[in-house]
Order: sequence, then structure tokens, then C-alpha cells
Amino acid sequence: MFEPPSVDDEVVLVGRSNVGKTTLMREIVGRKYDVGKRPGVTLEPNRYEWNAESFAVTDLPGFGFMSGVDENRREEIKDGIVRYLEENADSILVAVHVIDASAFIEIVDRWESRGEVPHDVDLHGFLLDIDVPVVVAANKMDKVEDRDDTLDGIAERLGYPPPWRQWDEVIAPTCAKRGATDALFGAIREKLSAQGRDDLLKFF
Ligand code: GDP
Repeated sequence: MFEPPSVDDEVVLVGRSNVGKTTLMREIVGRKYDVGKRPGVTLEPNRYEWNAESFAVTDLPGFGFMSGVDENRREEIKDGIVRYLEENADSILVAVHVIDASAFIEIVDRWESRGEVPHDVDLHGFLLDIDVPVVVAANKMDKVEDRDDTLDGIAERLGYPPPWRQWDEVIAPTCAKRGATDALFGAIREKLSAQGRDDLLKFF
């Protein structure tokens, strides 16, 4: 359903609808580069490719509830995302799992109390299963009052025993709307460096 990039490697953004993926994409792509005017840059819907580095950033479609989108279509999108991640796992340098930190715990607990596996828990486990390096962007931190408690709660529900700070290479408090992405970009840079891709650090 979703076309892979024409370049070798990519960073993907994945998460439910309305968590701030598009805002984050703009922070990544727009902050240091005037994309429209740079030669060798192709703009596709939700994907930016840099030919010189053979690198792309892909904002995968959001999943979960979307007003105006029916259940079957939502399932189709989720299946498409899963298939995309599975088929492209080898070329995904980092998967950025974006969540809305201000709503995450409530949503996860609601689903679990109904005996259902929450989308985000499912997705996170899947990313680990396919051996893709993962960073969680705990976004909308500006709406969170008790920062450490919330991040501990998020960590716990994703399978990382609290305190969250011992997982700070995985869990990155973020506020995309205000451009507060230092923790996230730091975590992404670590993963890129670990894979010998210091040439990509300039993007983050
Ligand atoms: P997407 O559906 O995941 O691509 O989400 P968007 O980037 O379109 O953002 C959804 C809404 O959340 C928009 O109204 C954004 O302005 C808002 N948003 C994004 N990041 C933040 C953030 O860090 N804090 C707050 N309060 N709102 C945010």
C-alpha cells in the first residue's frame, strides 16, 4: 500500500493520528533546510528524500481513530503500516514512535480495562520484534503537569520499568509545537551514530 523510498535508508515517524507527527516532521525537515530550494531534494507526500546521503524521512499515516474515516479503512491503514515496517525493516535506521504524552496513559488503561491490546502497546512491541531501533517521542509535554510521573507511567506501559530516566535513550520528552526536540534529536543521533551514520547527524 505504501511505497518505499527510492533511497537506501530512512527514519520513519509512526503513531496514532493527531499526536503531532506532522508538526515533528516540519521540525526535522524545515529547521535546518530550506527543502523547496535545495537541489537533489524530492518532496513526496509525507516523505523527504536527500539523494546525496541516500536518506529519507518518512511520516507514515496516523492510525487509530480518525473522524470521517470508517473502521475498515482504519484497519487497512494499520495493516499497511505494519506491512511497510516489516518489509522495510532493514533500511529503517530509526523508528520514531510518536505518542501524545498527555493522553497516552488514559487511553492505554481504558483499552486494557476492556481486555484489548492498545494500538500503541501493540505497535511498540512489533517494532522491537522486527529489530528496528526505536525512540519514543513523548510529545505534547507542555500539556503534562506531573512530568516524571507521566513519563514513568508511559515507560511502564511500554514495557520499560520505571524510573523513565534510565531509559532516556529510548523515551524522549518532546514538545514539537514549541520546537522542543533536543532530547528526541539526541536519542535519534545516538542511534544513527551507533550504526555508523554520522553523516546524517546534521539532519537532527
Ligand atoms: P499528526 O496527526 O500526528 O500529524 O498531528 P499534527 O502534527 O497534525 O498535530 C495535531 C495537533 O496537535 C495540532 O493541532 C498540533 O498543533 C498539535 N500539537 C503538535 N505538537 C504539539 C505539542 O507539542 N503540544 C501541543 N499542545 N500540541 C501539539
